[in-house]
Amino acid sequence: MAALARAPLALARRLPKVELHVHLDGSIQAGSAPALDASSLGPAAFGRQVRRRDRSSMSASLKVFDRLVAGLQSASSLRNAASSVCDQLWREGVVWAEIRFCPALHTQRGLTPADALLAVKEGVAASKLPHSAVIACALRSMGSGHAERMVDAALEAGAHGFDVAGNEQDFPLEAAAGAAMRRAAAAGLGVTAHAGEWPGTGSNVLAALSAGASRIGHGIAVGGDAALVQAVIEAGATVECCPTANVGSGRAPSFSVHPIAALMRAGVKVSVSCDNLLASGSAETGPATPTGEVCRLLLPRSGAGPGEGGMGMSPAEVGRALSCGAAAAFGAPEQHRLAAVAALEQRGQGPAALALLSRIRSPGAARDGLGLGGSVLALAVEALTADAVSEVEQGGR
Ligand SMILES: [Zn+2]
Repeated sequence: MAALARAPLALARRLPKVELHVHLDGSIQAGSAPALDASSLGPAAFGRQVRRRDRSSMSASLKVFDRLVAGLQSASSLRNAASSVCDQLWREGVVWAEIRFCPALHTQRGLTPADALLAVKEGVAASKLPHSAVIACALRSMGSGHAERMVDAALEAGAHGFDVAGNEQDFPLEAAAGAAMRRAAAAGLGVTAHAGEWPGTGSNVLAALSAGASRIGHGIAVGGDAALVQAVIEAGATVECCPTANVGSGRAPSFSVHPIAALMRAGVKVSVSCDNLLASGSAETGPATPTGEVCRLLLPRSGAGPGEGGMGMSPAEVGRALSCGAAAAFGAPEQHRLAAVAALEQRGQGPAALALLSRIRSPGAARDGLGLGGSVLALAVEALTADAVSEVEQGGR
């Protein structure tokens, strides 16, 4: 294990990442959206400006998204942005991604919400991660009727999940979207909600679980709250942790005190995500990247500054977070199987990946997780993780 202690970045690069929580509008790159092309700043400077925004309140912090969605008002711009984000994730070693956005924000020039979702699905399908999932978000501030319409659009367009995002301090979850979440879950959509991200929002976590969410976005409030920990464990829900986003926004003072490691050790299922590739993070942390998030998990808990150190998790714990993410993926078993086959073919060179690949090439392999009780996607992530750890331990490439 000595090589691993010296090489968290090398291991983070090789590990198969699972990105369950990434916003399309907060992740667009210069060149993939007209508004960013029009910016007089270069892409790096634009990113820094976005990350330096006012974070004094949730509504202030969310204002930047108005600017980001302005350039995503046509089917072609949405397609390009989705492809570009997925390709960037793929280059970072992501094997499964779920792209989320609120389709109602992309209707200023005539698209319907379902049109916007279909365009993003097309962009994903044309990307290096073609089997990945699309999640329709509703925004709390837009009311319960809006949330119901986003569920309708998700069902019409064949999206894979439903999320509730936006200002959770001023718009409690149950009133804004509880009924819509229950309908989405009953209709077979995967359901998640931003909950417990901002101070005083623990009640949103309980509301999300009671409305059928199988995943909790951020969930910082769960850390250190024994009753919430127990509720999340009993529900079997996965917390989509986004460390760089949380340290960047000041919701977690530093990486070393971010609750992800404590949650996992308390028995909570956790995954690790970026939240936004452009808009998350701060001057101290830099932008969120899939490799950077995994590296933070592995780095020792040293330094009190917001950009310093990590969470001190072991490679085995990080592997568990990655496979938890895969097991909590939305979408159909066949979609997971195709993603697993693609990942093993593209990323797998080691013995564990090759052994699994030969077993899951046939379509029937998706039906019951190969009879092993797990999802095919999670098995692929475990195989790729085992090979990555073994390679780095041996000081391989
Ligand atoms: Zn988010």
